[in-house]
Amino acid sequence: AIQFANKFNIAITVKTTGHSFSGSSFGRDTLLIWMRNFQKFGQISNDFCDSCGKVHPASIKMGGGQTWREIYGRLAGTDYNILGALANVISSSGGWLMGAGLSPMSPNHGLGIDNVLRFDVVLPNGCLVTADACQNTDLFWALRGGGGGTFGVVVSTQYKLLPKNPFVFLIFNIVPGTPIEVVDSFIDLWVMKSPHLDQRWGGYWNTTLGTFIFEGSMEDADKTFLNDLRKWKNSIKPKYHENIIIQVQDGLDGISSASLALDGFWGFDSTAVSALTKNSGSWFVSRKWVVDDEKRARKFLKDIARSGKLVLSYIL
Ligand SMILES: Cc1cc2nc3c(=O)[nH]c(=O)nc-3n(C[C@H](O)[C@H](O)[C@H](O)COP(=O)(O)OP(=O)(O)OC[C@H]3O[C@@H](n4cnc5c(N)ncnc54)[C@H](O)[C@@H]3O)c2cc1C
Repeated sequence: AIQFANKFNIAITVKTTGHSFSGSSFGRDTLLIWMRNFQKFGQISNDFCDSCGKVHPASIKMGGGQTWREIYGRLAGTDYNILGALANVISSSGGWLMGAGLSPMSPNHGLGIDNVLRFDVVLPNGCLVTADACQNTDLFWALRGGGGGTFGVVVSTQYKLLPKNPFVFLIFNIVPGTPIEVVDSFIDLWVMKSPHLDQRWGGYWNTTLGTFIFEGSMEDADKTFLNDLRKWKNSIKPKYHENIIIQVQDGLDGISSASLALDGFWGFDSTAVSALTKNSGSWFVSRKWVVDDEKRARKFLKDIARSGKLVLSYIL
């Protein structure tokens, strides 16, 4: 397809799931390479050897068009967990990974790009090459954060597996219509707690809705955050208690079951969710920025909660 496009000077767009917020997988008047039905892989390896000669004890080969849901399905019943997205509808080797790959497990295990061992990628000249720590190293560096579709078409990746630990999943929600003072009071707690949380906690927070995982025992989850959260809820006027949802699930066997629990919470299959509107947003709020001036952080976040205009996903 690439050689054909080169011959006739046609621009190419690559797409796997179509979840790109910026629309980079929808190129008008371009030739679309749709990876969704490309070859599936899923082989687990206990002795993958990269081109430096280094042997990796646990990894999986993921297809360039596979979603996290497929990868999580492949790992069900094994002893492995994996650093992936909570929304299992996005691709594991495409835009998520090449855009850095943020996961609720990131505070503990890094970004997606810290966990990839090798890319197999078709370059704009049509050649299939391997990029890893010792081969095509500039390409390996560029693919880890340079954005999906920028340097070639990824046909597969070799990706680290992690051991399974106990997993707790928390959904926190202050339902719409709750007086803003309740939201303000939570923001006060959050600004105080979030920068210092145990790094086994991770997740996304959007002023009134949070989805978090804790990689450890329920007892440790209680001690490190949940007890404070419940104490905060008890400090709120009882008539608002039913507006505050604190849903905790323990005994989960990794991010795959947490992502299914999230589908259950929404009550629909998030495959259907995509970017229908454009919003300003950020995935990051710097820890230092919060710690250096708590008062400023509280004001900023409260203003966001009031505006309802900015979508913020505050990664712990
Ligand atoms: C519901 C939802 C939840 C999300 N959650 C997270 C999250 O937890 N963490 C996070 O970091 N991001 C998250 N995102 C953002 C997501 O990572 C990006 O939208 C990402 O670009 C999606 O990649 P995709 O391959 O699935 O989508 P696509 O729209 O198909 O592709 C995105 C980009 O990657 C390119 N691309 C896709 N496949 C390939 C391939 N095989 N080879 C080369 N280029 C390719 C495309 O050309 C395009 O530029 C979420 C998005 C949504 C809609």
